[in-house]
Amino acid sequence: MSTVPHAAVDPGRRSDAPPALLELRGVGKHFAGADRPALDGADLTVHEGDFIAIVGPSGSGKSTLLNVLGLLDRPDAGAYLVDGKDTTAMGEAERDRLRSRVFGFVFQSSHVLGDEAVSTNAALGLRIQRVPWDERDVRAGEALDLLGLGHRLGTRAKLLSGGERQRLAIARAVATRPRVILADEPTGNLDSANSRIVIEHLRELHARGTTVLLITHDPAIAAQADRHVRIEDGVLTESRSAPTPSAAAGPGSRGVAAKEARPPSPPASGHRASALLDDAVDALSSLSSRFLRTVLLMAAFAVGIGGLVASVGLSQTATAQVSARLTAAALDEVVVNLPADDGLLDPDDDRLTRWSTDLAALPHVQAAGHLAEISPADARITRSAPDEPEPAAALTLASS
Ligand code: ADP
Ligand code: MG
Repeated sequence: MSTVPHAAVDPGRRSDAPPALLELRGVGKHFAGADRPALDGADLTVHEGDFIAIVGPSGSGKSTLLNVLGLLDRPDAGAYLVDGKDTTAMGEAERDRLRSRVFGFVFQSSHVLGDEAVSTNAALGLRIQRVPWDERDVRAGEALDLLGLGHRLGTRAKLLSGGERQRLAIARAVATRPRVILADEPTGNLDSANSRIVIEHLRELHARGTTVLLITHDPAIAAQADRHVRIEDGVLTESRSAPTPSAAAGPGSRGVAAKEARPPSPPASGHRASALLDDAVDALSSLSSRFLRTVLLMAAFAVGIGGLVASVGLSQTATAQVSARLTAAALDEVVVNLPADDGLLDPDDDRLTRWSTDLAALPHVQAAGHLAEISPADARITRSAPDEPEPAAALTLASS
């Protein structure tokens, strides 16, 4: 990990001033096979307490920008500093830790687990942070209160309206107490009344001190932010005034490189998201069994695929990286703990066979079987002479 002096790029600030919260320096990102970069020499400085709207046409690099900022994707040029520390030099584990400490994500689709209770959904990100059980409840409850869902704790998420589900997604992010909320078109699926409510909540979070970066197509929503960044063909420009629907890129100002807007390029060739991840996402959304959904989610946690990504949903631009890690993870063994709904399982219980069969049928699972877990209390070491008969073994499989 390297630390780069902040004063080197921001001479207006005193050299002993704390480093910016987030800082992109000449960041580039070029997806393999794409005819142009998704991010091109992006410079952006975000200070604690900023509320920044990011606007730009479809395919201009907005999600890529947010995914790089949220450590879901790595830039392939330039440096990205969080609290003055260069993240590009960090390993995945360190990036995972930093991501779960600093960022909360809200995507266009809420990615809530429909069969799970509102309170369980809100507490998902806290598992990653290894917050103790009792505290998870308290923090999830507080976040839900804040988002006006405190009276729906036990409701299954699929019974919520679209607007409520998106508020639940924000509560799930808020429960982790992120310093920064990264919201990628969070109102894209909502009508205008619900959009307003969601934006009001983001503004309230900002008023309480959270830094907010918000991607939106809607100029009226963007107008509510304090800073306005436009992105076109991967090039950032910042304007002081709020964008209008036809706004051209304004002159550069605080924190953003003053690059000239380029002529528009041909339409993007579309995402080349890997079929592998699509399978996994399809599996996740089409599975009707609550158990298997939970297993998939837990499997994602277990293999550490930017655990938070799994807990808050998979953004499209993050798919390439995630799928690469899924492929790597496919070489690993994943241990799935079964929900302890009725305590011990008999080895003859046919649910064990059914679960194994179901697990083995999931995409990319090569084999599935059971492991017996023996607690020290149940284990007994016996010594027997070679000519004695073996002691009878009594073994019960435990579900945990
Ligand atoms: P926006 O969010 O502004 O619509 P994106 O950041 O999703 O734009 O995409 C920017 C460009 O990068 C587009 O041309 C898009 O097709 C491309 N792109 C995004 N993600 C990937 C990916 N995983 N693989 C290949 N190309 C991608
Ligand atoms: Mg996008």
